Amino acid sequence: MTEIDTLPGIENAVSIARDQHPISRKHIAPNALKVLYRLSEHGFAAFLVGGGVRDLLLGKQPKDFDIATDATPEDIRDLFKNARIIGRRFRIVHIRFGREIIEVTTFRAHHEARNAIPEHVSRRQIKGLDSAHSEAGMILRDNVYGDIDEDAARRDFTVNALYYTTQGFRVLDFCGGMEDLQARQIRIIGDAQERYREDPVRMLRAIRFSAKLDFDIAADTAAPIAELAELLESISPARLFDETIKLMTCGYAERAFHLLGESGLGNYLFAPTLEALKHGSAEAGKLVELALRNTDTRLSQDKSVTPAFLFAALLWPVLQLRLAQANDDQQAPQQIFHQAASDVLLEQLNFTAIPKRFTIGAREIWDMQRRLERRNRRNVFSVFNHPRFRAGYDFLLLREEAGEDLNGLGDWWTQFQNGDTNQKNDMVNALATTGSRRRRRKRKKSAGKQS
Ligand code: ATP
Ligand code: MG
Repeated sequence: MTEIDTLPGIENAVSIARDQHPISRKHIAPNALKVLYRLSEHGFAAFLVGGGVRDLLLGKQPKDFDIATDATPEDIRDLFKNARIIGRRFRIVHIRFGREIIEVTTFRAHHEARNAIPEHVSRRQIKGLDSAHSEAGMILRDNVYGDIDEDAARRDFTVNALYYTTQGFRVLDFCGGMEDLQARQIRIIGDAQERYREDPVRMLRAIRFSAKLDFDIAADTAAPIAELAELLESISPARLFDETIKLMTCGYAERAFHLLGESGLGNYLFAPTLEALKHGSAEAGKLVELALRNTDTRLSQDKSVTPAFLFAALLWPVLQLRLAQANDDQQAPQQIFHQAASDVLLEQLNFTAIPKRFTIGAREIWDMQRRLERRNRRNVFSVFNHPRFRAGYDFLLLREEAGEDLNGLGDWWTQFQNGDTNQKNDMVNALATTGSRRRRRKRKKSAGKQS
């Protein structure tokens, strides 16, 4: 076992003794403790770091536990049979325990931004550059190992750079994180401009932590965001999708969405939505707000939320606007609808990637709206048995709650679901047969044409 007090760099930490902080081992996931102990039994220094320490200090349940160590990825892999080295930009090790993954990173040193910083970077400029930094000062590879104090300094925010050790159960603070935690502030480590240019996603992370923890963003940390927001254009749509999902599922999506709009960062994640909110109907805007609030509530009850539903809601105002603008007499309403849905999803892909299963899901939720509305004797059961019925129905209720007048449709489907077989049949029989009559008429007409 290494005595951690002999670790290079440790002398730069303020040490907070066990009786001065609230973290107890019983709040730490047993598997994370297992990793900490096993590493230190084998002569490595290992610490809990990041969100795990931050959230425990705030009395919150951490989402996951990250560990930092002086062991190399190879050392770690040799110690744990369930370990896998992953990552291109950062080589990190995932240690899997069933569904739980403990992320272990080797102490890294900070890269200094070396180059002059242009106002605008395109993705093309960054591709093909093989130095550790792009011309914009953005870190491309970040694998130079370092001492613990350097590891702290290359982290994003002071409250994310607190280290917990099982040796004496102390918290080590290299960057003034404890003070910021007490002041409820998100403060970037080092020069804000430089740190955002190295990795523009840090701007989104500032918003996410501010929303999630209800912390203010320190003035010098917030100041450059408006000007540097456009650096997000240089981030891959796949990473922006991941960050968008993290923002929308941090438990405070409503607040995060608001902050994204205010800071200008939202324009790089969902510009079409923000644009449609300016010009579209009040109901569509209200639906977005309610969907986000609903997401927050569901997460607080440990219920699942799906990106398909989130995107269906975020893009609803865009779809509505597109449909309102479509005045094509040649096409059937259904065709117009499908075309508009495709266009809206395609347009969003310019900002964030969306894995195909979620674009399909969002389309199905939208499609379900039409099917729920055109309820008739023939289609009720097939709509009800559709795998997306529940999501479509939830979405329908949100639309009504947002002020759309759908003639009590939500109530009808609620009663239908709750009814037994007889009641269901009665409800169906009481329905108009308009749908089928219309179809019959259509069939007659086309039969007439053929003959
Ligand atoms: P949560 O897991 O609750 O979302 P977290 O702070 O643990 O929050 P992670 O994304 O899990 O965030 O990252 C773990 C830690 O790694 C962070 O706390 C931070 O110290 C560091 N980190 C993550 N992303 C960056 C980044 N882009 N720049 C610098 N440091 C980062
Ligand atoms: Mg984490």
